[in-house]
Amino acid sequence: MKAIVIGSGLGGLLSAAKLSKKGYDIEVFERLPIIGGRFTNIPYKGFQLSTGALHMLPHGPAGPLAQLLEDVGADVEIIRRKPIAVIRIPRKKGDTDYKYGHKDLLFENFRTPFTLLNRIKLMYYVVSTRKNPPSGQSFRQWCQKHLQQDWTYRISDSFFGWALSLKAADVPAEEAFAIIENLYHHGGPGVPMGGCKAITDALANIVQSHGGIIHVSSEVTRINTKDGKAISVTVDGKEHPADIIISDIGHNATAELIYEKEGIAGMADYISKAKDLRPSAGIKICLSSDKPLIGHGGVLLTPYAKRVNGINEVTNIDPSLAPEGKHLTMAHQCVHWDDINDLEKEIELGLEDLKDIFAGKEYEVLLIQSYSNEWPVNRSPSGADLNNRTPVPNLYVVGDGAKGKGGIEIEGIALGVQNCVQEIMVRD
Ligand SMILES: Cc1cc2nc3c(=O)[nH]c(=O)nc-3n(C[C@H](O)[C@H](O)[C@H](O)COP(=O)(O)OP(=O)(O)OC[C@H]3O[C@@H](n4cnc5c(N)ncnc54)[C@H](O)[C@@H]3O)c2cc1C
Repeated sequence: MKAIVIGSGLGGLLSAAKLSKKGYDIEVFERLPIIGGRFTNIPYKGFQLSTGALHMLPHGPAGPLAQLLEDVGADVEIIRRKPIAVIRIPRKKGDTDYKYGHKDLLFENFRTPFTLLNRIKLMYYVVSTRKNPPSGQSFRQWCQKHLQQDWTYRISDSFFGWALSLKAADVPAEEAFAIIENLYHHGGPGVPMGGCKAITDALANIVQSHGGIIHVSSEVTRINTKDGKAISVTVDGKEHPADIIISDIGHNATAELIYEKEGIAGMADYISKAKDLRPSAGIKICLSSDKPLIGHGGVLLTPYAKRVNGINEVTNIDPSLAPEGKHLTMAHQCVHWDDINDLEKEIELGLEDLKDIFAGKEYEVLLIQSYSNEWPVNRSPSGADLNNRTPVPNLYVVGDGAKGKGGIEIEGIALGVQNCVQEIMVRD
């Protein structure tokens, strides 16, 4: 059986590696001159910056991605160290300025700032929602109903801003509880040694070692159909036939490539749902310093910052991501859809936050990257993902436009790929 994969991002390469191991004949087409999409490294001034991700796996060595990597035999070391996350709070009650002193609260103690009543309520809701997750409301709406306190909004915006690049008001409560459940189940984040590239390169090696071919600088311009079924893709004017086509470019871009859509049942509904998906946007600010700014390999959540949601310093786990004697620190901030046309102002606010958070410390801003539209943080906002199927038999979608339920970013991609491959296996 022949499978063609459109795009060599993490979703495409995971699918290609998994199907290679199952004996499929694989061909991957990538339009850029490099593989890895938003999950590879950019060497810059001796640092290993990245095309997207912050060199961090949300559930470290125990999550769905780590399991899938082990399953396909990818040789990657993923390190998780304590603390997995801390929360930075201004020292004085009611103060919102880190400059005048702050304390770092361990993530597992995030309940401490709640009133006693809210702590009791929280315990009750965590147990009761497991069996009966709330639906038809956002996580913020759920909080407004049950845990009205400034702290609830701050910590949830900071956590979901960091993890999903969304505000709590844009995360469906049901998805939020599935994510929380997964956090309890799989644990917190970890860093792949060698950064994102170590993972995508290992996957590409597996594909190639099974005889698969990965073409770079090769854009798929058309998905061809016959009798309503996907039969081939067109690259540089040449048609490449396949039994299965897996697209890693999101539902919307995939729908646009389908040639001859007329007469395919469910196509109009599919196109309209795919168009409705609003990619989540964000800004990443990469810093260099001689001395550590954070001092551990976990996440620093910053619920009192104006824009920055969280920061990590991956060199505390993998020093090879920076030149000797230097540290690489990366701050992430969610950009709400309303602010997408004013990225310069958002960047300025992010930089002001960093001055505040790291007041008195020396650092250099290495690179500022913004992500939206075609190169977003997530193609589909979490909780709104369509599944891996399309109305066209033989055509599937993977990647962060088709994440599995409760899967944060690449963990959701891994869940989606597992599901997609299972569907293909049942079919074949
Ligand atoms: C700032 C930022 C921080 C992030 N941090 C983290 C993090 O720390 N942890 C985490 O888990 N996730 C993180 N993410 C999310 C993660 O990076 C993405 O979810 C993931 O990399 C997306 O992979 P993908 O395979 O879905 O898509 P992509 O990586 O976008 O891959 C799609 C590929 O398809 C190619 N392509 C597009 N059109 C065509 C075509 N017509 N023909 C051929 N090829 C085509 C593209 O060039 C691309 O290489 C972050 C993302 C960003 C932007």
